[in-house]
Amino acid sequence: MPYWMKLMENAKERPLSTEKINWKELESKVFMPVFKRIPVTLVRGKGTKVWDDTGKEYLDFVAGIAVTSLGHCHPVLVKALKKQAGTLIQTSNLFYTIPQLQLAELLVKTSCLDYAFISNSGTEAVEGAIKLARRYGKVKLDGAYEIITTMNSFHGRTLAATAATGQNKMQEPYTPLPTGFVNVPFNDIEAIKNATTRITCAVMLEPVQGEGGVNVPADDYLKKVRAWCDEKGILLILDEVQTGIGRCGSLYAHELFGVEPDIMTLAKGLGGGVPIGAFLAKESACVFKKGEHGGTFVGNPLVCAAAFAVLSYILDKKIPEHAAKMGVYLEDGLKKLAAKHDVITEIRGKGLLIAVKFKSEIAEQVLLACLENGLLVNNVKLDAIRLMPALNVTKKDIDKALAILDKVLQERR
Ligand SMILES: *Cc1c(COP(=O)(O)O)cnc(C)c1O
Repeated sequence: MPYWMKLMENAKERPLSTEKINWKELESKVFMPVFKRIPVTLVRGKGTKVWDDTGKEYLDFVAGIAVTSLGHCHPVLVKALKKQAGTLIQTSNLFYTIPQLQLAELLVKTSCLDYAFISNSGTEAVEGAIKLARRYGKVKLDGAYEIITTMNSFHGRTLAATAATGQNKMQEPYTPLPTGFVNVPFNDIEAIKNATTRITCAVMLEPVQGEGGVNVPADDYLKKVRAWCDEKGILLILDEVQTGIGRCGSLYAHELFGVEPDIMTLAKGLGGGVPIGAFLAKESACVFKKGEHGGTFVGNPLVCAAAFAVLSYILDKKIPEHAAKMGVYLEDGLKKLAAKHDVITEIRGKGLLIAVKFKSEIAEQVLLACLENGLLVNNVKLDAIRLMPALNVTKKDIDKALAILDKVLQERR
């Protein structure tokens, strides 16, 4: 008898029963042990608040890792999902569908790029950007295929994105990785120049490194990289999966640095919580032909309707401007805390993507103490926490988060 039939016959063993379940224990039995989780099971969210399975409330300054840009279950997102869920969910890309094209049009009209492709995640957006750069190399650059990326970057978990990610600990378990990537130090134009050869087809960077610890480059770094790419005729890919869609206080972070990419990737904040990504390209870089890229789910009506509603709202309400203001307010507050607590050594970031660096490796302790006090933060490094609340966060929320952080650091003394 197949396993599933046995299980259905023995009703007592059925999963999802209503009795009290220890979710941590269940995870250890059935889910692959890849996540180092914080010991909290979240069950509900509204705006900047979430609740766990014991009913405890938290102020959420993680926001699904810079994803729930309008807060949890924003009415605009919920309404769009409900409407589309009752209309059309999945068709494959054998057919035209309307939400996909509306989203692509909005993305193209509000950016310096000409064509969009919708994907399911950030790593898939990056994978698509890599494939497009390779096609460009093959068609326009005499077969050049190598992509220069930076150390401490993060580009995703697929094999090519892992090869692009300049972090040894992520690469080492999976060697041999796809070839064609060189990792050089971030914020170092000479390193990029020295790594450029006749097989280089592109440079790929995050305008601000997110997972690497919120590392902001010098103001003129991206401009210098842009000029170098132009001089050499190679592509500049900006990975804005984390920095895009208002996170850094402008719709795209590259606008803050006064450069335009040839290819840009997006994901995290794009759908306000639904899994979606995208990559966009200038007409000159868009060398794909029919059949050269695709996907079953990519750009399906459900997620595209959600992202279209979220992005429209973000634009209508000028949310990037609000994020810029709230970013300054949060940073000022954190600087006041830094003046009071000498365990804080640096505040760095752009807009609502901010890291607080400590003198020693206490990020996890600080995270757990914040948790205890009803605040979710992320320990992006052993010695730094990252704050990335919803983009429509209020001063009141920020004051509350700062008060909890102040208390936590006070009690550590
Ligand atoms: C999170 C992230 C990715 C990967 O996105 P997933 O949706 O997790 O695959 C890629 N690039 C950057 C810059 C990211 O922050």
